[in-house]
Amino acid sequence: MQTRFPPEPNGYLHFGHSKAIHLSFGLAQEFGGKCNLRFDDTNPCKEETEYVAAIIEDLRWLGADWADRLFYASDYFDQLHAWAVQLIEAGKAYVCDLTAEQVREYRGTFSQPGRESPFRGRSVEENLALFARMRAGDFPDGSRTLRAKIDMASPNLNLRDPIMYRILHAEHHRTGNKWCIYPTYDYAHGQCDSLEGVTHSICTLEFEDHRPLYDWFLEQLGIHHPQQIEFDRLNLTYTILSKRKLLQLVRDGHVRGWDDPRMPTICGARRRGYTPEAFGNFCSRIGVSKTTGVVELPLLEHYVREDLNRRVNRVMAVLRPLRVVIENYPDDLVEELDAVNNPEDVNAGTRKVPFSRVLYIEREDFREDPPKKFYRLSPGREVRLRYAYLVTCRDVIKDASGDIVELRCTYDPETRGGNTPDGRKVKSTIHWVSAAHSLEAEARLYDTLFAKEDPNEVGEGEDFTANLNPNSLEVVERCRIEPGLRSAPVGALYQFERLGYFCVDPDSTPEKLVFNRTATLRDTWAKIERKQKGAAS
Ligand code: ATP
Ligand code: MG
Repeated sequence: MQTRFPPEPNGYLHFGHSKAIHLSFGLAQEFGGKCNLRFDDTNPCKEETEYVAAIIEDLRWLGADWADRLFYASDYFDQLHAWAVQLIEAGKAYVCDLTAEQVREYRGTFSQPGRESPFRGRSVEENLALFARMRAGDFPDGSRTLRAKIDMASPNLNLRDPIMYRILHAEHHRTGNKWCIYPTYDYAHGQCDSLEGVTHSICTLEFEDHRPLYDWFLEQLGIHHPQQIEFDRLNLTYTILSKRKLLQLVRDGHVRGWDDPRMPTICGARRRGYTPEAFGNFCSRIGVSKTTGVVELPLLEHYVREDLNRRVNRVMAVLRPLRVVIENYPDDLVEELDAVNNPEDVNAGTRKVPFSRVLYIEREDFREDPPKKFYRLSPGREVRLRYAYLVTCRDVIKDASGDIVELRCTYDPETRGGNTPDGRKVKSTIHWVSAAHSLEAEARLYDTLFAKEDPNEVGEGEDFTANLNPNSLEVVERCRIEPGLRSAPVGALYQFERLGYFCVDPDSTPEKLVFNRTATLRDTWAKIERKQKGAAS
């Protein structure tokens, strides 16, 4: 089995590509075959070497292995040209002087047959001479094309004398100025597959109607015939998977770049903290079909959580700090308490976390007037500080405008490690950090980039950007995190207990770590609160 993955280097890889990559590389691996990487660089105007490098980086990260089989469609320009000449000689291709607009007009529609070009009857000699002059640069862009001579009445529009070559006086990222005529994707693709000995040419459903054309070229040329097999594109709720539209988001500044953690790109996902394993498991799960469907975005998030849950260490971080003073804890004492790194992995061990008289807890974990079923801290109530002690809230300190600025608590020295020798129960365990020891950090919290399940569903005169979610990014500036994370490298992943999975962002500095929230944990409180609100109204 020989497969290939054929990206066009005109944008970054997105989640949809991960499915195609999983299929082509995965099938080759499963059946002891090989998968090539081939850049389909037939369009010099749109292609940039920046994209080639980025695509290679993303593919490596996803675990794709093409060994030394990295190819470019442009590697085959000489052969493709020779085959075009061969088709002209066989009377199967002709030079056409119609403009692009006329070609479209002559092509007809689904319900109407096309009309033959007035240049269709040119002699082989005239065609050879004109094609040679096209190549030599004698004609301006768009003035002539080379077309396959097939059937202008075919019910399949792709067979109505499709264009094989167009004139483009443009520099190509690999062949420079060698060529001023370039093959179309439709002419090049099948022959490139053939040259590489591809057995299974796996592509998306929209190419089903192109297959008869690819077959026609291969038959006329009498060369190795790969079998093209089509599968459904990946569509995801709340997500756009089109390079053109993703480019628009970047160009117009709707996001911070191709690798913005909200982008459905592979580099965005990497920056956000998604893992190659999560993509692999997701792609295995969704499988392939012959009909187009839409996959729920939370399914991908599920596989991200599942993978991270297994492998990343837990730490304590406070997103919105509320100061807590433990009144009966000695002023000068610091205890190093044992904390479990990962309850899912016994080999992950434990670490020391400093505990002292002044702490921060999450603002959300305190309510002065606790609603029903709110079991966290409130005046007079006792809760467990994770890995530390049981504490009771004694007093609430407010500033002049009535905002809570500090809690005064007491701790029970008998409950070190969170144990209760007398067996008494508390209903809640909350996270905390030591005020003096913790580090400041910034957290970037993400919601879906689009507010609508189908971002392409727009009102009149709007485009998909009208569906952008204005709340897709929330920056929380003054978080506090455990001191052990001081030298956490970019890309390191953690579970902030009770808050979600977080990944160190490249924007981090020695003074201030920046974290992206990769995924939330399932939030049971939010569910309860929603239900309560529903019941109350
Ligand atoms: P776009 O429509 O985003 O521009 P494309 O199909 O033009 O994508 P290519 O670079 O040509 O992008 O794609 C390389 C391979 O990835 C092709 O085989 C293509 O079929 C596949 N692919 C692209 N988008 C998806 C998707 N959403 N789901 C599955 N496969 C995809
Ligand atoms: Mg394409």
